[in-house]
Amino acid sequence: MTNFTRDFFIGLSNNKFLNEHARRWGFRFGADKFVAGTTIEDVIHTIRKLNMWGISCTIDNLGEFVSEKAEALKAKEQIIAILEAIYNENLDCHLSVKLTQLGLDIEQEFCVDNMREILDKARQYDVFVNIDMEDYAHYIQTLDVLKALRAKYDNVGTVIQSYLYRTEDDLEELKNVRLRLVKGAYKEREEIAYQTKEEIDREYILIAKKRLLGDAFTSLATHDHHIINELLHFIRENNISKDKFEFQMLYGFRREMQYDIAQKGYNFCTYIPFGNDWFGYFMRRLAERPQNMNLVMKDVFYSKDNQLKKEPIITGAVAFSLVMLWRARRKVRKEEVR
Ligand SMILES: Cc1cc2nc3c(=O)[nH]c(=O)nc-3n(C[C@H](O)[C@H](O)[C@H](O)COP(=O)(O)OP(=O)(O)OC[C@H]3O[C@@H](n4cnc5c(N)ncnc54)[C@H](O)[C@@H]3O)c2cc1C
Repeated sequence: MTNFTRDFFIGLSNNKFLNEHARRWGFRFGADKFVAGTTIEDVIHTIRKLNMWGISCTIDNLGEFVSEKAEALKAKEQIIAILEAIYNENLDCHLSVKLTQLGLDIEQEFCVDNMREILDKARQYDVFVNIDMEDYAHYIQTLDVLKALRAKYDNVGTVIQSYLYRTEDDLEELKNVRLRLVKGAYKEREEIAYQTKEEIDREYILIAKKRLLGDAFTSLATHDHHIINELLHFIRENNISKDKFEFQMLYGFRREMQYDIAQKGYNFCTYIPFGNDWFGYFMRRLAERPQNMNLVMKDVFYSKDNQLKKEPIITGAVAFSLVMLWRARRKVRKEEVR
């Protein structure tokens, strides 16, 4: 995908106005393919099915741009309710949280307090909590919060991104922490992050191998079959125990491959986002993969029974945006050719 298209969708994902309005629209543009519903009941239903296939899950209660304490407290209550559901329903599932949803942008100590409450409950129910890594603007704070929490809790970990130059150095300090390894989903400056797929993939493989040879548990989160195959080869060659790692993918992506890896006896975990705050998450998925645009087009123009939709305003507005995007891309391409 060209950088222009990627930047366009990342830009939309960061748009506060669109994010807030999307809550009122309900699922649109095929978002339901990647978001497992809006309620805890929806998400429990999905997890039960995946658990039956031998796949464990991690739940993400979607939500970004939290700027009021009341919103952060509401998110904390919702997360505690999810923990209760995991326990009561006996689900094979852990939790993924975003610190900005719990008040990181309001006050770090307030966010730490919210996390402490969540971790107390999670420890009581024997559930692991992973802190998602957000953009670089929150990176150092996230590691600081993790450090503060790890002083008391061992049921908490975080995510490292192979696109950051500094990740390799940070590994030493995180060597005893359970981590998820990803490539990185945000647009970061070239002063701090690798920009090409080759460099990011190379770093991913390097870091994954280091972690696999170390002691702590690692979640290898990627949809990239080249990387998965190379790591499987490395795992077999080095006799690495299956208890030391799992593969992770996002809900709605490469389902057959998810089942296949689990069927082969490897630990597999699906990341399940749910909730009304689907817009930013969905736009980041479009940024990653142009083919997902097909879902958007289908959803915009056709109803579930394959009839052309009769919602001229929203359809027209989205169609207009897509045409503008296409024209802008064409212009960039022409300039690149020149
Ligand atoms: C479980 C999970 C949790 C994540 N958590 C975070 C986080 O906390 N912070 C963060 O910054 N990012 C996170 N991410 C996103 C991550 O950083 C990447 O942006 C995202 O995973 C895309 O990179 P990729 O490794 O899947 O490979 P890509 O580079 O997107 O894809 C590589 C290749 O894989 C193949 N491929 C990919 N998807 C498909 C598909 N659907 N169907 C067929 N082929 C496909 C294609 O050949 C493609 O060229 C997470 C990702 C996962 C899977």
